[in-house]
This record gives sequence, C-alpha cells and structure tokens, in this order.
Amino acid sequence: MSDKSNENNEKRLIYKEIETIVGTGMVLQNELISNHNSIKIGGPADYFITPDSQGSLKSILKYLKLKEIPFYIMGNGSNVFAHDYGFKGAIIQIYKHMGDIMVEGKVVTAGAGVLLSKLASKIAEAKLTGFEFAAGIPGTLGGAVFMNAGAYDGEMKDVLVEVEVIDYNGKISTIKGSDLELGYRTSILQTEHLIALTVKMLFNQGDEILIRNKMKELNQRRQDKQPLDLPSAGSAFKRPLGYYAGKLIMDAGLSGYRVGGACVSQKHCGFIVNDQNATSEDLIKLIEHIKHTVYHKFNVILEPEIRMIS
Ligand SMILES: Cc1cc2nc3c(=O)[nH]c(=O)nc-3n(C[C@H](O)[C@H](O)[C@H](O)COP(=O)(O)OP(=O)(O)OC[C@H]3O[C@@H](n4cnc5c(N)ncnc54)[C@H](O)[C@@H]3O)c2cc1C
Repeated sequence: MSDKSNENNEKRLIYKEIETIVGTGMVLQNELISNHNSIKIGGPADYFITPDSQGSLKSILKYLKLKEIPFYIMGNGSNVFAHDYGFKGAIIQIYKHMGDIMVEGKVVTAGAGVLLSKLASKIAEAKLTGFEFAAGIPGTLGGAVFMNAGAYDGEMKDVLVEVEVIDYNGKISTIKGSDLELGYRTSILQTEHLIALTVKMLFNQGDEILIRNKMKELNQRRQDKQPLDLPSAGSAFKRPLGYYAGKLIMDAGLSGYRVGGACVSQKHCGFIVNDQNATSEDLIKLIEHIKHTVYHKFNVILEPEIRMIS
C-alpha cells in the first residue's frame, strides 16, 4: 500500500474514533474551513468537530492530546481565516449546541457557543440593558470573551462577572471578570490558552422597547457604514492608539486596492472583503501591502485583528 493510502486509512480510523467520542454527525472529515468562516477563506481541516457538551469537549481534548493531534478552537469564524492548504489537525467549534441561556434577575449565564445576536435578543426580552453594543457583532459569546469584543462604546469587559474555562489538559476553573486581563481586543484566554465554556454577566434593568430601539439604531449604523453584503472578517486591523485604521488606509490611497480576489472595501477601508474568490495568499499579501504602505506614509504600525488558524 502507498504512503498516501496508509495516511488516508489512519485518518479514517481517527475520524471513526472521534465520532465514537463526540457522536454521529458531530465530526466532519476534510471539511473546508471556508464553509464555516465569514471571510470564506480556508482549505480543509482533517477533522471539524462540534462538541455538544462540556463532557464531550473534555473527552475530545484528552483524545487529541493522547494522539498528539494539533487543534484550533473556533466560534462562529467571524474573525479568522486559514491557509488554502487547510489545517492538519482538528478544528473544535464551540457553537450553538453549547449555547444555553439562563436569566436570573439581572444576572445572565450563557454557554460560550451562543451567537451574540440571539443572546442580545434574549437579554432585551428579559428587560435588561447593557448588551445592546454586541447585538450586531457576528460572533459567539466565547469568541467575544476571547477577543474582548466591543463596539459603539461598549465592550465585553463592561458586563463580565466570571467565565468558566477549560484548559488544554481538560482542567475546568472559573475566572473572575477582574482577573480576565481584558484589554483592547485581548484577554487572558489568549495568553493562557483557555477555552470559554460558560459566561456569567451582569446587566441593569431597562425598558425593552428602548433596548430594542437602541439595537436597531446600532445595526442600522453598521448597515450604513460597513460592507455587510460581502464576505469579510470585520475590521482587518486593530485601532492604533490615536488613529483609526480605516482612515489611515483611506488616506494612504488604498481604498479599493486589490490583490487577486481580496480588496480594501470602498465603503469602509478598515474592512478587507473577499469579493472575487480570494486565496489565503491574496489576503496575506494585501495585509502586508497595507501595513507597509501605512507605515511608510504615516509611521504607524498596523496590527492585524483578523487571526490566522495555524
Ligand atoms: C461584519 C463583521 C463585523 C464585526 N464587527 C465587530 C465589532 O464591532 N467589534 C468586534 O469586537 N468585533 C467585530 N467583528 C469581529 C468578530 O465578530 C469578533 O471578534 C467576534 O468576537 C469573534 O467571535 P467568533 O465566535 O466568530 O470567533 P472566531 O472568529 O471563531 O474566533 C476568534 C478567536 O476567538 C477564539 N475563540 C472562539 N471561541 C472561543 C472559545 N469558546 N474559547 C476560547 N477561544 C475562543 C478563536 O480561537 C480565535 O482565536 C466583526 C466581524 C465581522 C465579520
């Protein structure tokens, strides 16, 4: 038998073992990452796993460690891309199956896999205010904690009480909001390689109609300013201190600048859109060109916000 077919047999065996652990339908083999991220860039992952419980996640982490299979945690894929050659290992998607929501007075506890839009609606229904900022961010709660996502003067930091996490060895612990080291698009989950499981948040009592109106208004502002009709990962770069990345990119004359299928949005220069089947190379080259041009024109270093699965 050839090396290739030996490798395929081995991968098939691992796939079957993963399926035994997480259940039928919860793992896909050679699944394109581009089917699961908002910018639609990324080749096949050997295994694409969507655990439906903490127990299942814990077991799969143990198995992958035992087999020395690399893995990457993903939420809704709204801030990530992968190479066209894909990911040799497992993508573990913490998603809707791990997204229960519980409201107790002004405290809301939710699974990391819930989408922010759904959670924001539930919080509004409970007549609680403080989460309107997140309603239009297209990620999961776990991704939002990991990134300390924010918009329109609000950020996750403002509402977090504590987060239950699991480390790569399967140890579960709870971290208080004040110990999460939340900064601009950063948290302790990034530095300590922790996976968010459940998130406890605190809000204030409010008026449902006012809350929903605020969410509508903020979503309208997004519609007006952002290229939401095209695949993207949101803002491609972090905001440099004292500047706006989008304005720097526009002032550098890069509006509409293209590498292959990846293009600087003319509607919002902070966004890179995949409007013509971009490859990962197109995206990487465009990011480098933008960084280089902005640095030479304005002496400002742009740091990508979009993350590469590797
Ligand atoms: C149109 C558009 C608009 C956007 N607007 C905003 C905005 O206003 N503000 C903003 O902050 N962001 C914005 N984003 C970016 C993105 O939505 C956020 O960063 C979001 O928090 C990412 O969540 P996700 O579930 O999609 O994470 P993913 O993109 O899947 O992953 C992002 C990172 O989080 C990690 N991660 C995901 N889930 C977990 C978990 N459970 N535990 C540990 N790590 C995890 C991943 O490993 C990865 O490194 C926008 C994106 C798009 C496409």
